[in-house]
Amino acid sequence: MTRRVSYFYDAEVGNYHYGQGHPMKPHRVRMTHNLVVNYGLYRKMEVFRPRLVSPTALTRFHSDDYINFLRVITPDNMQDYMRQLQRFNVGEDCPVFDGLFEFCQLYTSGSIGGAARLNEDQADIVINWAGGLHHAKKAEASGFCYVNDCVLAILELLKKHEQYLNKTRNQLLEILSQVEPVPGTQIQTGQVESQLNPKGMEIDKEEEEEEAEQAGEKGDTDEEERKEHPAELAS
Ligand SMILES: [Zn+2]
Repeated sequence: MTRRVSYFYDAEVGNYHYGQGHPMKPHRVRMTHNLVVNYGLYRKMEVFRPRLVSPTALTRFHSDDYINFLRVITPDNMQDYMRQLQRFNVGEDCPVFDGLFEFCQLYTSGSIGGAARLNEDQADIVINWAGGLHHAKKAEASGFCYVNDCVLAILELLKKHEQYLNKTRNQLLEILSQVEPVPGTQIQTGQVESQLNPKGMEIDKEEEEEEAEQAGEKGDTDEEERKEHPAELAS
């Protein structure tokens, strides 16, 4: 089955800089994108530049005053916002840097855009390397994260949650139907009555032996199935 992949990338995102010595480096998103281009992976995907979401869209999760603060704060006016910097936990792990709000808008736009694409059933898989800043709280920055694009993308998905959950369920069922049981493992549906009761262990042993026997009998078919994989990957 060929899966439709949508890839969201904005060339600007690699230009934002958290500051010297900070471990979070948006430049890495650009490096990853260069690999995607040079390996020709973009030919397997639909490539999009995210459409910028409005600041209001960010307040579907975040508080108005926090988003307003992110919009106005700059390295030059920080001294005038000492109280808010503390209140919103901005300054150390989550520094103020040039273009901070645009950066937040950019990475969030990719995630919301990707979610919309799934909602429209235009893609099976969406990618936004720039996103995933999941530590941000409703009215507080945290762990290098300012705007929580993950929550906002989930809120977007919830617009069509029923359709989406059905699709996910069907995909899971399809995957499960292709999975062969691994000898020696089983999904436990019953309760173990007592850890001292060896009954459960005996059942496990019998099933293991049965499975080992079956595996021995159909050694040839295993090999045939393996041969089919390269063809699957090529389609
Ligand atoms: Zn984080």
